[in-house]
Amino acid sequence: MKETIIKGAKALRKRYPFLTIDQAKSIVRWSINYYAGRTMPEIRLQPVYGYCPECKGHGERRLNGNNQCVNGHIYPSKDALTEI
Ligand SMILES: [Zn+2]
Repeated sequence: MKETIIKGAKALRKRYPFLTIDQAKSIVRWSINYYAGRTMPEIRLQPVYGYCPECKGHGERRLNGNNQCVNGHIYPSKDALTEI
């Protein structure tokens, strides 16, 4: 794992020489985690804050106990749908 990161970071710096080795390493580390997440659908597909009761869009937590969906609807967090 560590070797993969160093190898990847060196390859990245060949293409983008303005990156420091630490920046390159963190980019490589980030993309490894990103692609690992994509291969684990149970993590990727599980909505943290549920769905909008109006349009079934993906919701996000907002202040004051409200959620807002990707389409801009605002609704109380307790009304968020856990399944659609
Ligand atoms: Zn909505």
